[in-house]
Parts: sequence; C-alpha cells; structure tokens
Amino acid sequence: MASGNRSPSIGIVGSGVAGLHLGLLLRQHDIPVVIYEAKTPQQMADYRIYIPRLLADFQERGGEFRVADITPRSVTELSERHDLIVVATGKSDISAMFVPGGDTEVLADAGYTDDPAAFERLVLEKLRAHHPQTFARVDPARFRLTRPQDLLQGAVTSMVREDYVRLPNGRYAISVGDAHTVVDPVIGQGANSASYSAWELGTAITEDQNFDERFCQKAAARRANRVQAICDWTNLMIGLPPAGHLLQMLGAMSQSKPVADEFTDNFNYPERQWDILATPERTANLLAHHGLM
Ligand SMILES: Cc1cc2nc3c(=O)[nH]c(=O)nc-3n(C[C@H](O)[C@H](O)[C@H](O)COP(=O)(O)OP(=O)(O)OC[C@H]3O[C@@H](n4cnc5c(N)ncnc54)[C@H](O)[C@@H]3O)c2cc1C
Repeated sequence: MASGNRSPSIGIVGSGVAGLHLGLLLRQHDIPVVIYEAKTPQQMADYRIYIPRLLADFQERGGEFRVADITPRSVTELSERHDLIVVATGKSDISAMFVPGGDTEVLADAGYTDDPAAFERLVLEKLRAHHPQTFARVDPARFRLTRPQDLLQGAVTSMVREDYVRLPNGRYAISVGDAHTVVDPVIGQGANSASYSAWELGTAITEDQNFDERFCQKAAARRANRVQAICDWTNLMIGLPPAGHLLQMLGAMSQSKPVADEFTDNFNYPERQWDILATPERTANLLAHHGLM
C-alpha cells in the first residue's frame, strides 16, 4: 500500500495487450511501473509490429521493462517490492492462480511424449465424460495420435476467472486480460476486452491507492458488465445447436440494414450486444422496434 506522498509502485507481469495498455496509462499519470515479461521483444510472435511499438512508448514514458519468467511463487516475492501486482500473462500457466479448477483442465498441460498410451486414455476418458456423442463415434482400440506433430493442446473455453487473489503475505494480485477473461476468438473480442479492462483498472489505480480487498472489488466491478457480456455473447455464438433467437437475429440482419448496423456497431459495445441477445424476449423487442415482428 502506498504510504505518505509517495507514488504507488505497480508491478505488471506480462507485456501483452493488457499489460502494456495498463503500463502506458499509469505512466501518463507518472505512476512508477515495472513490467516483468518472460520473452524478449525479439521473441514476441503475436502482434509483432504493435506490441514492440507499445513497449517503446512505455519505455519512452519512463516505464521499466525487465525480462523475467515469473512463477506464482515469485508473484508473492514481487508483491514485497510493489504496492500492487497485476497479472497480465494471457493464457499462460501462471493465470491458473485465478482458476477455481475444472475436470478437463488437466488436458491443457498433460504430457504426451513420456507416455503416449496414458495420454490417449486420458483424452478418451474426458471425451466420454464430457462429449459422449463424439465418444460414441470413436473406436477406442484404434484411437491414437496420427503423429506427434498433430498434437494441438490448450484451452479456449470462454470463462471469466477470479478477479484477484490474496497472496500469502496478505497483499493482492489482480488479473487482467486473458489471465482474467478467456474467450474463443470467434467474435474477435479478446484484445478489446484486454485493453478495456486495463483502462478500467488503470483508472481505478489513479483514483484510489489503497490496494486492499475493497480496491480489488471496486476494480472488478468497473469491468464486470463488459467482460461478462463478452463471455456470454461468445458462448451464445459458439453454442450448439444455435439458439433460435440468434438465428432470428442473423436472418433479420439480412433483411434490415439498421439491424445489421446496430449489430455491427455493438462490436464496440459488447454489453449492448448482450442487452439485445441475452434472452429471446430481448431480441424480439429489438426486432419489433425495427418493425420486423
Ligand atoms: C487465433 C486468435 C485470433 C484472435 N483474434 C482476435 C481478434 O480478431 N480481435 C481481438 O480483439 N482479439 C483476438 N484474439 C485474442 C487476443 O490476441 C488476446 O485476447 C489478447 O492478446 C490478450 O491480451 P493479454 O495481454 O491478456 O495477453 P497476451 O497478449 O497473451 O500477453 C501475455 C504476455 O504475458 C507474457 N507472459 C506469459 N507468462 C509469463 C510469465 N510467467 N512471466 C512473465 N511474462 C509472461 C507473455 O509472453 C505475453 O507477452 C485472438 C486470439 C487468437 C488465439
């Protein structure tokens, strides 16, 4: 917690979309920031033009950048050096600090090469438990990886994780970006969500430097409506079978330019999109408003 007139020092883990947008905003307010990043700028593959540019701007504004692979344990160590730790590590392992757990989570990290047969048994077991219709079409005796290069592992289930955790020393770490909200890329909202959340968290930091649980709750509330809307809207788009009111909406867009324009504009305002799509009644009201029902 910042004491006296000293500016609070913020430690950010991860220099992706969320970490850098937050760092840039805080530096605009002269708040000391150190970003800890596992990769050097040369190793960053995603957004390879955008991210190095943001990083250069961050450093120009006096932000400090350190290459360091941070573990959950070192988050606690960092919290001794900073007033608040923000975890902006995307979908990487460290984000599990904010995951309550789930039965299929093990698949994201299970090793294949050590024991391929055990790996394949595990996949079959989870398939049977969670996707029985697909499992019914599999011949377990012949089920195996065609070749090691064909293994694609990860987890992109849309979900909103815990907003913050209390560290063993009583300080707090807050999640932001994909470390907090993971969404399927289908509606292209991941980076939007990350930069929006960074902005809301950054604004909260400029307004209140008591980094206790109340601060964490206030920061969480500021972003909750939008990030939850992004998550719910994404899940509606990928849900099977497709929801009837979603199909109705898509059909209406092909008939009405104003409806299509509203849907398209709402990519900038995901919470408004969810206001329209959350229930069949809401969609029906929108369509009635446009004279389509
Ligand atoms: C195929 C695909 C298409 C997409 N298309 C879109 C789109 O069209 N529009 C859109 O808005 N979004 C899109 N996204 C999502 C978007 O890329 C992410 O949501 C966004 O990058 C999340 O930002 P972030 O800062 O949370 O995480 P990231 O950008 O992933 O940054 C995390 C950073 O943390 C670092 N890090 C990780 N672990 C550690 C550690 N232990 N210690 C230190 N540093 C660490 C990483 O190296 C990385 O630099 C897409 C994603 C995918 C996969």
